[in-house]
Amino acid sequence: MVAPPNQPSLLEVSFRYDVTGGSTQLIRTRWVAGGLVLLATAICAHLLKLPLPELPLYATGLAVLAYNGAFVWASRRAYTPDVAALLKRTRWIVAAQVTLDWLALAAFVHWTGGVTSPAIPFLLVHLLIVSIVLPRWLPYLYVGLGMALLAAIAFLEGAGILPHYTVIPGLPADLHTNPVWIAGVLGFTLVAAAGIASLTVNIMAQLRQREDRINALFATTQAVTSATNITALLDRMARTVAEALGARGAAIHLLDETSDALTVAAVYGLSQSYLARNSLELSRGAVDGELMAGLPVVVHDIASDPRIRHARQVADEGLRSLLAVPVIGRSKPLGILCVYSDQPDRFTLADADFLMAIGRQSANALENALVFESLQQAEQARAEFVQVVTHELRAPVAGSQTLLRTMMRGLAGELNEQQRDLLSRIEHRLDMLMELVNDLLALAASKTLDVEEELKRQPLQPVLRHIVDRVSREAEAKGVQLQLDLPFEVLSVRATEVGLTRIFDNLIGNAIKYTPSGGRVCVRVVERPAGVVITVSDTGIGIPEEDIPRLFEGFFRARNAKESGIIGTGLGLNIVKQIVDRFGGMISVSSVLGQGTTFKVTLQRASPADEADEAA
Ligand code: ADP
Repeated sequence: MVAPPNQPSLLEVSFRYDVTGGSTQLIRTRWVAGGLVLLATAICAHLLKLPLPELPLYATGLAVLAYNGAFVWASRRAYTPDVAALLKRTRWIVAAQVTLDWLALAAFVHWTGGVTSPAIPFLLVHLLIVSIVLPRWLPYLYVGLGMALLAAIAFLEGAGILPHYTVIPGLPADLHTNPVWIAGVLGFTLVAAAGIASLTVNIMAQLRQREDRINALFATTQAVTSATNITALLDRMARTVAEALGARGAAIHLLDETSDALTVAAVYGLSQSYLARNSLELSRGAVDGELMAGLPVVVHDIASDPRIRHARQVADEGLRSLLAVPVIGRSKPLGILCVYSDQPDRFTLADADFLMAIGRQSANALENALVFESLQQAEQARAEFVQVVTHELRAPVAGSQTLLRTMMRGLAGELNEQQRDLLSRIEHRLDMLMELVNDLLALAASKTLDVEEELKRQPLQPVLRHIVDRVSREAEAKGVQLQLDLPFEVLSVRATEVGLTRIFDNLIGNAIKYTPSGGRVCVRVVERPAGVVITVSDTGIGIPEEDIPRLFEGFFRARNAKESGIIGTGLGLNIVKQIVDRFGGMISVSSVLGQGTTFKVTLQRASPADEADEAA
């Protein structure tokens, strides 16, 4: 999976901290440097009585402090949460800072004696800071610029175009025109500057690489622990390792337990046509011999390595070297993690160690995710099975109910008292069976269809109105008053229409079912900081206190409900709880035996970012 364009890559993030941190460091150092120029000038001119051009030196010090102030202001203004834009602006600010510094240093060197100035080592100190802050080749550019400035000062002073100041008493007044001296100063400064730049750049590159790797390990840990599904987890892992190793691409192959074959599970950075091949480049020998024994495989040159299958096709993709490590779970190998480069000989043993660490780090989480996924699949299969079976059961039960009612109405001949009693008992049992079949169907459906359907912005009031309209006749027939109390403003929640209907069908249906004639059922919606709160309260039979904690368990029915003879299965609230959980909501119940029950459902309000339900 390719990262969205505005999401920073791992390397960008660490570079962002380098650059912005470096910019701050430069600014802080410059306050000291500007102050020191002023102080040192005052001390040298007045205490040591050195023949310094005081005014230009004070002006240089003040200029340094002034432009530093401007950079503080510019850095604050440049801040933006957009990482890419911030990076770009900060890079410009750093480049401007370093350029002005060189100019200020050149002026300082000139006022303090040009090629005879004791301030020349400051050029090297500044270069050291620049090499720490700027990446890759930029420090070398600044070495060139600094040396060019120094040479220009030497030339202009030597040729008499610029005035020369001899600030150190005892130095020959014409030393700045001595070609050996000039060549010596320029040569030694160049060697020292180039040495400092190259050493610092190398050390910084190593430090940055380590930092990137620590970040990558951290990012992988985060990815594997926070991913909600295995595909996202693997995609994130592939991207992270490719970036951390600066590789062209990465792939994760998982071992299929039944066929023992390795199949591509996630890829980053490879072309679609290459992906279509869906096979591992390494030969079975390399996989069985090295990888499955827990060792890394480094292929320095894909074109000539005998362990590579289809070397031509791999080379056609532009891949020249690869590194593969096993991902081994608690008891068995889970798969292989591969990174690819378009340069030969790209991966080192240190890279292999690093990738092995990532493999170890991810193995447990990956194994858990795989187990979780297979459990989910099993659960799904079970739910589908229940759905099919109950669906098949419905037709004969419904048919039997119709036939029975026909008989009870006497349409198939007169019935005596005993026959009528027996048939009504059969009818009661069939009603119970039908209720069970319906609840099982609903339960299975809540585990199959709903799980896949994405949560959307769902207006609440139309759903509730629809349900209340549908059950109002039943309530009326039973002598139960049904009241719906909705706010004026339409409230939308993050849910699915089917799920919401199921929740409130159950709660309102139960309230009517468990409320005797003359009672009242009230459905009310209010908005609270925690979300939208929907209460379904009734003045019915209530629930014994000791049964409340078990109410949401499947097949649980309260003692008084069972004794009342009211038909039920104990599945409805279990389904309700599952759906509410899936919506990220909460459900609670309070009840007083013999007086009534209130169910309170709290659902998250839909945010403007939530896609609207088209049906709404
Ligand atoms: P069913 O109603 O089919 O038995 P439910 O899962 O819907 O199954 O409810 C579980 C149990 O919770 C019920 O059997 C009943 O004991 C209790 N119950 C649910 N709603 C109410 C209510 N409004 N008033 C009293 N008891 C209730």
